[in-house]
Amino acid sequence: MYTFDYQRPTSAAAAAAALQGDARYPAGGQSPVQAMKLRLSASERLVDLGGVAELKGICMEGSNVVVGAMTTHAAVAASADVRKAIPALAELAGGIGDPMVRNMGTIGGSIANADPAACYPAGVLGLGATIKTNQRSIAADDFFTGLYERRR
Ligand SMILES: Cc1cc2nc3c(=O)[nH]c(=O)nc-3n(C[C@H](O)[C@H](O)[C@H](O)COP(=O)(O)OP(=O)(O)OC[C@H]3O[C@@H](n4cnc5c(N)ncnc54)[C@H](O)[C@@H]3O)c2cc1C
Repeated sequence: MYTFDYQRPTSAAAAAAALQGDARYPAGGQSPVQAMKLRLSASERLVDLGGVAELKGICMEGSNVVVGAMTTHAAVAASADVRKAIPALAELAGGIGDPMVRNMGTIGGSIANADPAACYPAGVLGLGATIKTNQRSIAADDFFTGLYERRR
């Protein structure tokens, strides 16, 4: 593993401000940390989103289900709101990987990673979801632009 700086902000605004150079945002950390350990990628700085409480959780806004980026797959699978409003989404989340993956992995990490083989990208496309970044709202149809490529 190469050396890197590590930051753990406690607000989304501080996390956005810390994104400079080739910094990356580990969420559950399942993709970037493994790649870094194998020296397949290097980042000068990791901005750990694990301390940003405002990005965690699920709520209803009218008939819309709003899922925070740092909400784990396990939390989506167990959510009473999700199970009632979009049972297929709870089913999808509950089928990702194994219990460790579901307890570490996040919906935001999966969508930001834009792996076309992953479950959430197909799920948000099928549901016609809206992806909210710190800058704007983007329809899922317009969000993914290619293999591991997406808008911000
Ligand atoms: C053994 C194993 C089995 C798996 N099985 C499945 C499966 O069956 N189905 C499936 O869909 N997935 C599967 N996965 C992937 C898993 O769902 C991961 O949780 C998913 O890739 C997201 O990971 P993460 O939350 O750890 O994000 P990370 O890996 O930490 O981040 C992924 C990328 O997104 C960026 N990022 C993360 N959060 C944000 C954010 N809020 N804003 C901007 N950028 C962000 C990071 O910088 C990084 O580049 C599996 C993974 C493992 C290790």
